Amino acid sequence: MKVFRTAEDMRAWSYAQRAQDRRIGFVPTMGALHGGHESLMQVAAAENDTAVLSIFVNPTQFAPHEDFDAYPRTWETDIAMAEGAGIEAVYAPKASAMYASDFSTYVLVGDVSEGLCGASRPHFFRGVATVVTKLFNAVLPDKAYFGQKDAQQCAVIKRMVRDLDMGVEIVEMPIVREADGLAMSSRNKYLTERDRQQGLLLSRALFAAEAQMKSGIRDAGEIGAGIRAIMAPLAIDYVAVVDGATMEAVEKIDREVLVAVAAQVGAARLIDNIKFKPEAVV
Ligand code: AMP
Repeated sequence: MKVFRTAEDMRAWSYAQRAQDRRIGFVPTMGALHGGHESLMQVAAAENDTAVLSIFVNPTQFAPHEDFDAYPRTWETDIAMAEGAGIEAVYAPKASAMYASDFSTYVLVGDVSEGLCGASRPHFFRGVATVVTKLFNAVLPDKAYFGQKDAQQCAVIKRMVRDLDMGVEIVEMPIVREADGLAMSSRNKYLTERDRQQGLLLSRALFAAEAQMKSGIRDAGEIGAGIRAIMAPLAIDYVAVVDGATMEAVEKIDREVLVAVAAQVGAARLIDNIKFKPEAVV
């Protein structure tokens, strides 16, 4: 497996792949890989002629009070998992190679980036959109794979790719969960045993909401209230029922909705969501 540290080296390899008509699948991550990342890598490797993983803990998407320094870094096990999943090249630039000291160009995605996580983490999506643009410019992918775990991030990336004619197909992959329902996350490493039990309230609340919607409840306020009741022991950041594509709040569940939650649990800020389409009711 090849490892590239600069955009120039990464791009030279990608140009060579493209010159041989090989289609490139790309999985951008911040490392500390788990089963969620693994599923993205496996599908990227299966659906394309070659697959690239990036590992980069992106400083511009963390606020000064957030966990940039504490974020887990597990290079050896990441590389082993990537190799097992069929990844051919890893792009792992140093922050100094990504951001010149006078770096001053950012990608701002409006609308879809403003609510939910964008409201409580104001610089987050600017950092994400900018780094994904830079990663795309280095890796030159045909398809890029993102997780529904970060559903708003997927909406932001899709909007950016459409608005800026980036020509990369964005594939949104299902959430991979632990056996007890907890959505896999690199930040789960911060949880104590007690926190972990509390963290289960997110998925439990979402699954209860899903059952309510399946039983025919269409009032978003009622769904939100039920989720808040289950998550009451936690420090809730948001509970939102929004249009799955635009991220705008809905009152009636009459189209595909994203039901998304965020809460602080011990040292970790956890997010989770489900999508629900009323037509799917039988
Ligand atoms: P991260 O390293 O947390 O930035 O995540 C890298 C990619 O993996 C993003 O597209 C995430 O949405 C995706 N991802 C993270 N956790 C999961 C999960 N539990 N299931 C599926 N995809 C995930």
